[in-house]
Amino acid sequence: MKHLTIMLKPASSLCNLRCKYCFYADITSLREVSSFGVMKESAMTAVMDHIFIDLDDGDYLTLSFQGGEPMLAGLPFYRNLVQYIAGKKRNIHINYTLQTNGILLDDDWCKFLAKSRKATTRSGSTQPDRERTNRFFVPSPC
Ligand code: SF4
Repeated sequence: MKHLTIMLKPASSLCNLRCKYCFYADITSLREVSSFGVMKESAMTAVMDHIFIDLDDGDYLTLSFQGGEPMLAGLPFYRNLVQYIAGKKRNIHINYTLQTNGILLDDDWCKFLAKSRKATTRSGSTQPDRERTNRFFVPSPC
């Protein structure tokens, strides 16, 4: 029995914050392509198909979504992904994890996350003052 853990970045390096302590924007600015933007649905289905080729019934799969800010891929992206996987009708134990800055969390997201049982971790400081002095919005995600 296998347990695969795959990290996905469905919004590439896009982020809606520019935290003072973040290294990621600097690193991606040095890349030939700093961001590939939001993953297209055709890419998502192709990636899932490739992953599932290697899985047998009873295996475990953890899909871990990170960024930048992975929620910038949009709620429809995640709904489609969960639906696409469910449509495979395979006996695979699937866990989802989402690492987010939480800026886009609203009721619709919360209902979806609860329903699809995504484990969600929110990055940030436990001290509100540090949130205010270290985390800055950008006018449009970049
Ligand atoms: S939310 Fe995360 S990825 Fe975005 S700027 Fe802050 S630390 Fe970096």
